[in-house]
Amino acid sequence: MTLLHEKTRRALPLPASSGCVDRPVLKERGQQEVFCGLTGIMWLHRKIQDAFFLIVGSRTCAHLMQSAAGVMIFAEPRFGTAIMEERDLAGLADMNDELDSVVEKLLARRPDIRLLFLVGSCPSEVIKLDLDRAAQRLSQIHSPQVRILNYSGSGIETTFTQGEDACLAALVPLLPPEPDSAPAALMVVGALADVVEDQFGRLFDQLGIGPVRFLPARLADDMPPVGPNTLILLAQPFLTDTVRALEERGATLIQAPYPLGADGTTAWLKAAADAFNVDAETFETVTQAPRKRAERAVGLHRENLQGKRVFFFPDSQLEIPLARFLGNELGMSALEVGTPYLDKRLMAHDIAALPEEVTISEGQHVDKQMDRCRAARPDIAVCGLGLANPLEVEGITTKWSIELVFTPIQGYEQAGDLAELFARPLNRRTRLEV
Ligand code: SF4
Repeated sequence: MTLLHEKTRRALPLPASSGCVDRPVLKERGQQEVFCGLTGIMWLHRKIQDAFFLIVGSRTCAHLMQSAAGVMIFAEPRFGTAIMEERDLAGLADMNDELDSVVEKLLARRPDIRLLFLVGSCPSEVIKLDLDRAAQRLSQIHSPQVRILNYSGSGIETTFTQGEDACLAALVPLLPPEPDSAPAALMVVGALADVVEDQFGRLFDQLGIGPVRFLPARLADDMPPVGPNTLILLAQPFLTDTVRALEERGATLIQAPYPLGADGTTAWLKAAADAFNVDAETFETVTQAPRKRAERAVGLHRENLQGKRVFFFPDSQLEIPLARFLGNELGMSALEVGTPYLDKRLMAHDIAALPEEVTISEGQHVDKQMDRCRAARPDIAVCGLGLANPLEVEGITTKWSIELVFTPIQGYEQAGDLAELFARPLNRRTRLEV
């Protein structure tokens, strides 16, 4: 096993790698225009089919969730908000009783729930509540039928995609232990659309890699085991705390870029293939056809996008891998790539693939960044919803970063759709200007 682990630490450069990981990063602190971590519930509640996310929050949190999810709910939702009204410390005992009673009613009405997340938020009345203890107390009452965990989606502690990191990190202590004698197993970490997960599952199967498990699993009882022979491959780049928690359970990270675009997906699969000693011929045979399909699909948008200049505001933490994809596979040039939080270890391959002249910024001072964007006059700016209107008014085409999180974009079969997400707003503006 030691040998295998040594092998997995090997670097795997992308074909067009031209930069360096240890480059200067513009660090900014100031007003940020990003969603809070509650937003992760939008995709996590669809992924874990027998989980429920109970936000312990205020009316503001409930409104955010309603407006973000309103158009997507077709069945009874698997999330809700327990609204905590303002009260003094003497009212804390009542608040705990109230929470217990909300949970009891919910679980009585929804026997399908097997995993309940209490999700903390930032209003002061919620901060006074100890949700760790509440989860332990409620677990004693409701387990084994329902497991109850907690994490924070508060806007003070988390941005947008960090909610998923907090959720998955909370799940890690619950994962069953994998015995030391178990064979090496691959754990793909990060929520993916089911269709993408199935595609990757088939590719790993054809490569002879297995067992392959996904975190999160689709059902609470199917969460993957973890142990010293677990090799982690990240499907999403924003999982710092989850990786740390898995490593503490003995797992080893496979260093890889992220599976965006034809090249990114190939390099991601190759990192796993190398860790499992898949020979080059098998790798080529399995990946050749879908890779060519992806290259063709991406190529359809190259004429429109080549030479276009893109500016990323920090939002989803997907910015660096996306900039790498747009540069390497579509010939676009990134002016500034902002990310709310930068984990250089998890982002090493994608940073190295960015040209030296690209500015990477971490954190945000929104006014200064808006000024830099105005001065740079990009062809397209990738930003959160709050900045899109002001930028459009000033004649700068925008792409909402939230779309890049809600749309399946990973893997060979989605590579063309990913390119199209950037081509569409530019085409729209061209048509408007004709
Ligand atoms: S958690 Fe905080 S930032 Fe998020 S919706 Fe609630 S109040 Fe707003």
